[in-house]
Amino acid sequence: MTSTQARHTRRAVLQSTIDAGARCATSDPDLWFRTDGEPQITWQARRGEAIRVCNGCPVRAACEELALRNGDGNHRVDDMVRGGLSGTQLAAAHAAQAERLAAAVDADRDTEGRLLDDLSIELRTQAGLNPDGRRNGGRLHQDANRTEQNLRIRALAASIRQIRTARRARTGWGVAA
Ligand code: SF4
Repeated sequence: MTSTQARHTRRAVLQSTIDAGARCATSDPDLWFRTDGEPQITWQARRGEAIRVCNGCPVRAACEELALRNGDGNHRVDDMVRGGLSGTQLAAAHAAQAERLAAAVDADRDTEGRLLDDLSIELRTQAGLNPDGRRNGGRLHQDANRTEQNLRIRALAASIRQIRTARRARTGWGVAA
């Protein structure tokens, strides 16, 4: 794999690393977010506890990198923790690494774009196939072919939907995945 290809597959690697080892996956997810109207004093205590858990998390570095690529955090709003950093710290880190992160996000999008193209082509190909084309297996075989084809089409459509939803969420069109 070239260094460019490695860069382009980085988001998927980061996400699967986090999925495999996130310490927060076994905790109350609310710990990492300030509730509406929560007083600073109680949030501060919970924020400290969330950061303590993050600092012992085996995938903290991957989590921080993905949060930065996703643009998590806000300079003006102290309402979350991700990857061991508060939302304001994430925003500051994002600003400090803006150039590097912009290139990384572009590479991520290139990867997704290519994947979407590949999935769309396969979906069109599958939808255009004649499941009864193989005549030597009889009726039962044709039914099995049809079922297999339908399952594949559904799986492809679900993958395309998932990627598009995540892309829309990143550009502010929906709730973040
Ligand atoms: S670093 Fe924190 S927010 Fe990220 S996966 Fe680990 S525990 Fe969860």
